[in-house]
Amino acid sequence: MELFPRGFHTLYGVIILRKRNCRDLLFLSLLVIGCILIAVYLAVNIKNAFQASVVEADDGIYILIDPGHGGIDGGASAADGTVEKDINLAVSMPLADMLRFLGYPVMLTRDVDCMICDPGLTRIRDQKVSDIKNRLKLYNKSRLTISIHQNHFAQTQYHGTQIWYGEKNDESKLIGAAVRQSVIGLLQPENKRELKKATRDIYLLSNTTAPAIVVECGFLSNSAELAKLKDEGYRQDMAYAIACGILSYKP
Ligand SMILES: [Zn+2]
Repeated sequence: MELFPRGFHTLYGVIILRKRNCRDLLFLSLLVIGCILIAVYLAVNIKNAFQASVVEADDGIYILIDPGHGGIDGGASAADGTVEKDINLAVSMPLADMLRFLGYPVMLTRDVDCMICDPGLTRIRDQKVSDIKNRLKLYNKSRLTISIHQNHFAQTQYHGTQIWYGEKNDESKLIGAAVRQSVIGLLQPENKRELKKATRDIYLLSNTTAPAIVVECGFLSNSAELAKLKDEGYRQDMAYAIACGILSYKP
């Protein structure tokens, strides 16, 4: 025996269903709005954190990423023919992407395999002089320069990231320390290499008046480290560790 006329249950079911749908829809909407608010909050705060440390520059607000060498200047070479300039670029590109993603204005001295000398120069010596002068101009106009290089040594046992800082700007040492701490903390807990002041033979670093560091990510002369440096995932980890170091630096 039916207590309610035929059709009522269906109608009641639809009402319940609609109520449930409405509740689900409301919950989903609140969830989406909540996620958007959290994303906006994080984006604004991350950007502010970066801008606080970057945009207060008197001249030049960009972070310059300088993949060392390029074109006819290959830098150091590994036993298997791997050339330093290629590893430098392959670390620099994801580093630039990460910093841009985090809200920094970023410039690269090069994003292909080339020198950055003035056009029309035919002599190699003139090209090299022009390249270094043009890089120094970019260094001096930047808020901060991170130059990416690789190490090489006659004895093959040496490994680990080595960071150098320019002495003409007091911030260089502090930024170098922050990046060193980050690389050791995230990637190389066994690394005991101290932060070093640039010697005169590191021309750009010892001559720029803007904050600048060189990160020698690893030794091409050490086969285990060379294998890592040739691995895209490791290079991204290295870029991430450097970016985190910059993010952690507070002037
Ligand atoms: Zn180099």
